[in-house]
Amino acid sequence: MGYNVAIDGPAGAGKSTIAKKIAKKMNFIYVDTGAMYRAMALYLLKNNVDCKDSAAISEKCKEADITIKYENGEQIVYLNGENVNGYIRTEEVGNMASASSPNPDVRKKLVELQKKLAATSDVVMDGRDIGTCVLPDADVKVYLTASSAVRAKRRYDELIAKGEECDLEVIEKDIIERDYRDMNRENSPLKQADDAVLVDSSYMTIDEVVDAIIALIKK
Ligand code: C5P
Repeated sequence: MGYNVAIDGPAGAGKSTIAKKIAKKMNFIYVDTGAMYRAMALYLLKNNVDCKDSAAISEKCKEADITIKYENGEQIVYLNGENVNGYIRTEEVGNMASASSPNPDVRKKLVELQKKLAATSDVVMDGRDIGTCVLPDADVKVYLTASSAVRAKRRYDELIAKGEECDLEVIEKDIIERDYRDMNRENSPLKQADDAVLVDSSYMTIDEVVDAIIALIKK
């Protein structure tokens, strides 16, 4: 049985940045579950599956073989044998992931893979339902959040740094919409587990958040 740290929270709270740093410091494996939903979404997009057709999603998701490997500490996601890390970080794939992730057949398949990874290794796993559904017995559970305005500004700065044009108001509106979908779906909604520690990163630096969570692990 591995040591398990679960980090859940809305998009843009800084989960992946923080989870990666904790994994490095503690010598744990970082498991990015969003990347698995994104790889599944990529497969559905490639096959022209309508995001509103849940029967078609249930049928097609059976054909997608998603596995992960670690190379130099980085998680590589394979979709039917192909490394898809370079294709899953687009808005199109993110929106399809958000639309297809409520599907019970998609979740069943990916949750199984996540549980298997946590059973055999020390992991920091981030997502939406890790503390509530995937690893209900995790050793440490954190619900990491920040205000939608702060999360939108972080995303905006990231895009501007990449030289992309964007509109802060539109980004915040998208964030609020995605939160609403993730929190109000019937199947595994995003919510704080009863035994999770709430961390609001709105006015904290990355290292302050990392140190706070490592203190919980060491306690
Ligand atoms: O975290 P990321 O933005 O990569 O996740 C993409 C989408 O995958 C989320 O909007 C959410 O709908 C879904 N997801 C999920 N459960 C997880 C991780 C991600 O439903 N554990």
